[in-house]
Amino acid sequence: MNIGFIGLGIMGRPMAKNLINAGYALTVYDKFATVDDLVVLGAKAGTSNKDVAARSDVIITMLPNSPHVKEAVLGENGVIEGAKPGTILVDMSSIAPGAAQEICAAAKAKGIVMLDAPVSGGEPKAIEGTLAIMVGGDAKAFEMVKPILEKMGSSAVHVGDIGAGNVTKLANQIIVALNIAAVSEAFVLATKAGVNPEAVFNAIKGGLAGSTVMNAKVPMILDGNFKPGFRIELHIKDLQNALDTAHALNVPVPLTANIMETLQALKNDDFGANDHSAIVRHYEKLAKVEVRK
Ligand code: NAD
Repeated sequence: MNIGFIGLGIMGRPMAKNLINAGYALTVYDKFATVDDLVVLGAKAGTSNKDVAARSDVIITMLPNSPHVKEAVLGENGVIEGAKPGTILVDMSSIAPGAAQEICAAAKAKGIVMLDAPVSGGEPKAIEGTLAIMVGGDAKAFEMVKPILEKMGSSAVHVGDIGAGNVTKLANQIIVALNIAAVSEAFVLATKAGVNPEAVFNAIKGGLAGSTVMNAKVPMILDGNFKPGFRIELHIKDLQNALDTAHALNVPVPLTANIMETLQALKNDDFGANDHSAIVRHYEKLAKVEVRK
């Protein structure tokens, strides 16, 4: 089975490495980033999205947002120009559910089956191969690629038709952003009240307030380490997709709107390229205190 991997950024690179380590034959391509380290590990370097598609039975894309996936798949020298009928395209990027449906329809016209399969877990779980993968699209195609997905994730769950993977991801992103905001507000209060934030973390992480978000982000906050991980500007992208999708369905999402404005303010303060744990910086600024060891 030949796998094509397009988009070798923070997430795509370690995911591709896990597939190479699992013994799959990979052809890789990124429009801007080098692929030399993957070639050293045994991957072949593709020359374009079209070229990768022509050499592959399954193509995985891991790109920033809807326009990038549209360009890579439907654009000039794109995947659908090179892919053979019967190819399975697995888009693992987090994009708008409506865009996934549009791209799927265009791919289907060329005999290509598309799944939308965004992930949760961030860079550490991409490296470990323990991502949570949520998949929409044709159930048979899902069963065919499930063993591949399981080399990148500890779970791959089929959640419905094309677009359902990204609807699930939007739900995930709302919960993650608001969880970081709640942790930030609470730890700023505790610190300003004179209690050591590390002690607060150790005291509450095993209780009901504990969460994967708390375990991943509080140590970063305590160290003042805001290196991404997951950039604030990518979270803005996801929440914009959540707001657009919600409003198209007449679903008010007041908490999402609120945290979106916090992220916009952080971007104005030049924290857009920081990890989203830097949400704490907004609350720190309001209270004039820093949550550090
Ligand atoms: P990234 O910006 O680090 O990587 C994206 C890569 O795509 C870049 O290397 C870029 O050069 C490449 N690219 C862009 N346009 C291209 C094109 N037309 N053809 C080929 N390559 C192209 O982003 P990332 O952090 O790896 O995130 C990728 C996706 O995964 C996003 O949708 C993001 O929301 C999602 N995601 C990220 C994380 C995280 O923690 N970083 C976690 C879960 C999901």
